[in-house]
Amino acid sequence: MMDLDFDRQHLWHPYTSMQYPLPVWPVVGASGVMIELEDGRRLVDGMSSWWAAIHGYNHPVLNRAFSEQIGRMSHVMFGGLTHQPAIELGHLLVEMLPAPLDRVFFCDSGSVSVEVAVKMALQYWHSAGRPEKRRLLTVRSGYHGDTFMAMSVCDPVNGMHSLFSGTIPEQLFAEAPSCGFHEEWREESIGGMRELLEAHAGSLAAVILEPLVQGAGGMRFYSPHYLRRLRELCTAHDVLLVFDEIATGFGRTGKMFALEHAGVVPDIICLGKALTGGYLTLAATVASGQVAETISSGEPGLFMHGPTFMANPLACSVAVASIALLHSYDWQSAVLGIEQQLKEGLAPCRGVAGVREVRVLGAIGVVELDQPVDMARIQKRFVEMGVWVRPFGRLVYLMPPFIISTQELCFLTEAVCAVLMKEYE
Ligand SMILES: *Cc1c(COP(=O)(O)O)cnc(C)c1O
Repeated sequence: MMDLDFDRQHLWHPYTSMQYPLPVWPVVGASGVMIELEDGRRLVDGMSSWWAAIHGYNHPVLNRAFSEQIGRMSHVMFGGLTHQPAIELGHLLVEMLPAPLDRVFFCDSGSVSVEVAVKMALQYWHSAGRPEKRRLLTVRSGYHGDTFMAMSVCDPVNGMHSLFSGTIPEQLFAEAPSCGFHEEWREESIGGMRELLEAHAGSLAAVILEPLVQGAGGMRFYSPHYLRRLRELCTAHDVLLVFDEIATGFGRTGKMFALEHAGVVPDIICLGKALTGGYLTLAATVASGQVAETISSGEPGLFMHGPTFMANPLACSVAVASIALLHSYDWQSAVLGIEQQLKEGLAPCRGVAGVREVRVLGAIGVVELDQPVDMARIQKRFVEMGVWVRPFGRLVYLMPPFIISTQELCFLTEAVCAVLMKEYE
């Protein structure tokens, strides 16, 4: 048996107290959409391990890519050396992303890719002879990671900026996009953003935001038209536009990248999470040629970043295999099917007292409550029902692996409805 006492006393888990940690469940294996606990129980996974495991767990194709690469080399430094897995992955990303996004910087995690994107934006304006352009503008309810610059553009309340005031850079915040995904466009929903851009363009390096879906900051979906207007405004005011597609990339919203819903191209994009199908940590920051060339033509003539494990060959190989796997079947129909089923399966939650809204986009289903859930109790309930669903705050949500069967997804949505009904009966 695993030593859970040791775990409780010595191991930090994400966003937890070391004094009063919430319970954790010991996992011994995971395969397909099933997570197997030490006591033999098997849970249907509704989380894809935070957006990442789009093909499910223990996939033979990804396993093979990993094993073959480990037999060749696990890692070599990327300074002065290169390798086929990085070149192949770069090729795939450049092919998949819209022009002119074609200069790829590989890094270790989503947060780091956001740091890299911001650094690119700052170096861009430095090289362009406008070093005073160094602030960032974003929207409320965003999430961009846990490192300091990334944290500075997370929602100031959810991100607890007050805790780090004086240390994190102070950025500018517009109201969160209020026009829903399916709603008719209302120009006033970008009014605050427009005013901030107009007032501060001279000191702004970039606008950064999650296109279409605000993830960990509130699981909110908004109008593609917001992105079209924002692109126009950024161009008009000479401010770079950065999209954080770390959560939305690789099919989750029903398009390969969320930006495709809007037909808008940013100057820099961040990718991560599902990039390796959830196998290993890897992210990429991809810039336009113009951004890359401007940085490289100024002082100091090079981009100032280079992580030790940059372009790790194991991670790149699994990413290549994961993208090839995505291209090998009709994932778009799979995601549309999940969307349809989430809509139907979660609809009964609308009748539950305490439920504020049920919303679905692509393979993302969200039940928003009036009050924060009692995590310890509700998590236990879900495990007893045989599902892995991890709510946060007022949000109970599902984002299953794309390979989930109709029956398994039915099991998940029924469990969510049943647990919420019992919770609020
Ligand atoms: C998860 C996430 C990040 C941070 O990625 P890490 O790999 O956890 O550092 C950044 N932006 C968005 C939109 C995310 O969902």
